[in-house]
Amino acid sequence: MNSREKRSLLSLYDPCRLCPRHCSVDRLSGQKGFCGEAARLRVAHIEAHFGEEPFFTGVNGSGTVFFSGCSLGCRYCQNYQISRKGMGKSTSVLAVAQRILDLWAVQSIHNVNLVTADHFLPHIIALVHELRERGATLPVIYNSSGYQRPESLRLLEPFVDIYLPDFKYGDAKLAENLSRAGDYPAKALEAIEEMLRQKGFLEVCKDHQDFSRGSSPRIAQKGVLVRHLVLPGQTRNSMDALTMLFIEFGADLPLSLMSQYAPAGNDLPDELGRELWPEEFRQVLEHAMGLGFRRILYQPLIPGLRGRGDRPFVPDFRRKRPFAGNIKASCSRGKRGPFFQEAQGKDFSLKTNPSPGPGTLAKTSTDTA
Ligand code: SF4
Repeated sequence: MNSREKRSLLSLYDPCRLCPRHCSVDRLSGQKGFCGEAARLRVAHIEAHFGEEPFFTGVNGSGTVFFSGCSLGCRYCQNYQISRKGMGKSTSVLAVAQRILDLWAVQSIHNVNLVTADHFLPHIIALVHELRERGATLPVIYNSSGYQRPESLRLLEPFVDIYLPDFKYGDAKLAENLSRAGDYPAKALEAIEEMLRQKGFLEVCKDHQDFSRGSSPRIAQKGVLVRHLVLPGQTRNSMDALTMLFIEFGADLPLSLMSQYAPAGNDLPDELGRELWPEEFRQVLEHAMGLGFRRILYQPLIPGLRGRGDRPFVPDFRRKRPFAGNIKASCSRGKRGPFFQEAQGKDFSLKTNPSPGPGTLAKTSTDTA
């Protein structure tokens, strides 16, 4: 990338309209918008991560870069230390590229996984360009909040292989309350439409696969997988969100339904101060299946989890290794990563259990990490 191309990329920071917030601040001169970041690249952590779906983590892990700041800034974010509290260090594109190349050489990571990177889009383009110049053939995953501009996504088209967006809200009022983004449902649907136009449905989800722990699933190479995290007390929002996705994109949209919510930070409204009840997750999963989605991965919700000790993929970025689960998983070639199950036909089973909510999903794994 020559200096003229670099200058042209950096000009996207002034005025910054990279995301739907449209702050229009001059980040090049040090101003910060809603995302809390100026134009210096800042990163909190990079490692082989095992907390993603099995076709991303495989047996060697996903080379994951956790950026500082966030343009959505949800009150319940489990990464709040870096997304909202500013943890992380200034670094350079060359240093990040070198770290990824080292992980590839030493640990054989399966891909590059860029987490919440929208506010650093110019640096992301330069980073992927650098990796390719230096021979990296790893698929690039763009792991995002869904609150994105199609115009920005079009700039990423040649540099991203897999989009992994959230679709968090069907309820605009809830989006306003929890993320100060009442336009989230409309903006995220537009963004996902653009992602699908570029990459289509995640290819690995087109065929039936064994996603059980310890299997060696094919590693995803290209496409879109949409995630939805079910929040405590917000099943209506989840069901509305899934209905919207079904109406817009149809039954073949690959979905990852997540039950891993854990209270984090000190800005939580009362209703988010508890774990998700199994009955709540069951309702949402049943709704997704009732709509007719054909490709659903979900995390079986194990009753009775309490605190970080039970949740090895809830990070503490004050530690050198923020994810306790990555230490165990890297020693077991991915066998101790989070468990996902495919909801498809007879594989799907429910049974009741009185604790801690009025019902529970069948427990399908022996532990959670
Ligand atoms: S990336 Fe940050 S500064 Fe730019 S528009 Fe979004 S929130 Fe504002």
